[in-house]
Amino acid sequence: MRRIRIFDTTLRDGEQSPGASLNVSEKVVIAKQLDKLGVDIIEAGFPRTSQGDFEAVKLIAQEVRRPVICGLARTRDEDIDAAGQALESAENKRIHVFIATSALHMDKKLKMTPDEVIATAIRGVRRARRYTDDVEFSPEDCSRTDMDFMCRVCEAAIDAGATTVNIPDTVGYAVPQEIRQRISYLREKVPNISRAVISIHCHNDLGLAVANSLAAMEAGCDQIECTINGLGERAGNASLEEVVMAIWLRHENYMAETGINTREIWTTSRLVSDLTGIAVQRNKAIVGDNAFAHEAGIHQHGVISDRKTYEIILADDVGWKGEQLVIGKHSGKHVIEQTLKSRGYALNKDQLLEVTNRVKEAADRQKAITEEDVIAFANDILTTLTRDEQLVRLCELSVMTGNRFTPSATIKLAVGDREVLGTGTGIGPVDAAAHALQSIIHKELGPHLELKEYGLKAVTGGTDALAHAHIRFADDEGNSFRGEAINGDVILASVEAMVQGANRAVNFQKRKTPSEQGQQQTGER
Ligand SMILES: [Zn+2]
Repeated sequence: MRRIRIFDTTLRDGEQSPGASLNVSEKVVIAKQLDKLGVDIIEAGFPRTSQGDFEAVKLIAQEVRRPVICGLARTRDEDIDAAGQALESAENKRIHVFIATSALHMDKKLKMTPDEVIATAIRGVRRARRYTDDVEFSPEDCSRTDMDFMCRVCEAAIDAGATTVNIPDTVGYAVPQEIRQRISYLREKVPNISRAVISIHCHNDLGLAVANSLAAMEAGCDQIECTINGLGERAGNASLEEVVMAIWLRHENYMAETGINTREIWTTSRLVSDLTGIAVQRNKAIVGDNAFAHEAGIHQHGVISDRKTYEIILADDVGWKGEQLVIGKHSGKHVIEQTLKSRGYALNKDQLLEVTNRVKEAADRQKAITEEDVIAFANDILTTLTRDEQLVRLCELSVMTGNRFTPSATIKLAVGDREVLGTGTGIGPVDAAAHALQSIIHKELGPHLELKEYGLKAVTGGTDALAHAHIRFADDEGNSFRGEAINGDVILASVEAMVQGANRAVNFQKRKTPSEQGQQQTGER
């Protein structure tokens, strides 16, 4: 059996999904769960792009010891040095250096000749080797790169010390047959190829990311780059759960296996979807709610006579949890801790204490507290902005609504050390409150925010259930900012989510410098 390495880039490429920004604590929680899942390499971020990415990579390197922790870098010295510094305390570290190699990218983006690109790649790989013996090299936009030039660059990178060469289908353009040919060509034409592991990185613009990854594996790739729930730039990356379960189920066909503990898949998927705020589509393969609809009685007759009639994967195989555990009113810290652990939330002491307190508080109001309530509190605590980031705080809110007058809202916000009052009207109380909030933010702080998404759902059933509000604001430049909050009161949950979104927008504007913007646009996406 061949052992296929699973390289997870949820925290780097996945986090580049529009609207999926994660804070440092959320990234650490996800990294710990990825460790439990058994991934071989965690690409934890792109340290040079922002202080937040640098901090996240550094903290993950300190706290997650088994897998290889990887940081992305362009071929520039400052990128590689930032990655090297962020990874300093890692037990196992990798620097992933990339430069574009397609004629289009070299000409229009880099404005470099092919020879300059090769020289730059060599310099970058050599510099990365100063920090670690484990260096990955990617020729960006490889699926649109001339095959012979791809071979020249890869040979040079391996000579300079790259130990993995990754073939990215950056724009999701390739089809399986082509990928198979490209990998075979690389193996045939690059004389030193046996000194490096070949890797594949596919995007899903044509819905072919998983198929392309499997085709690459057939042709000799030993590392697959993927993300939980297929998150990633635009249409996303190859989905880890689909790649892994295809290899798991058809291992005899592929004569291959991975180190993934498949029973941690469902938990990881839910964790990532809760913390990024990006829901998994119901009919998504492996982890969608409908994937194990057998559990709900569909095809029941056939399934009862022999489960294999309709099921190729059992719910247990991916750790799917259908039933909700009810947490008793008097459940202590221990039960809550166990529940959180089993769902991938490795929280620190303070965070755990806060969840316990929130559960106690809620137990006084609600009949029963379920596992989902506990998870909702943990999510809420993890997404909370730091004190420094809370430039705006909600002090007072009152709304008037009914069927004989225009709904209106009055909001008092603390903006720095001042209190500011605003009013608004709308088609309902949430709309009215949104208008009041938007006018204060615009007047006091500048950003002109438009509410692009608004969602409200009960965490569990019943009118006394907690409400989870999710919003997305967009500013004039099209940047989007999400906000999440839970509260027993739907209006308060909605407004708290909007305050969080507004804070993200204001923080973004404060941090924004022209050079930072330029950097983010040149990242391998
Ligand atoms: Zn990518």
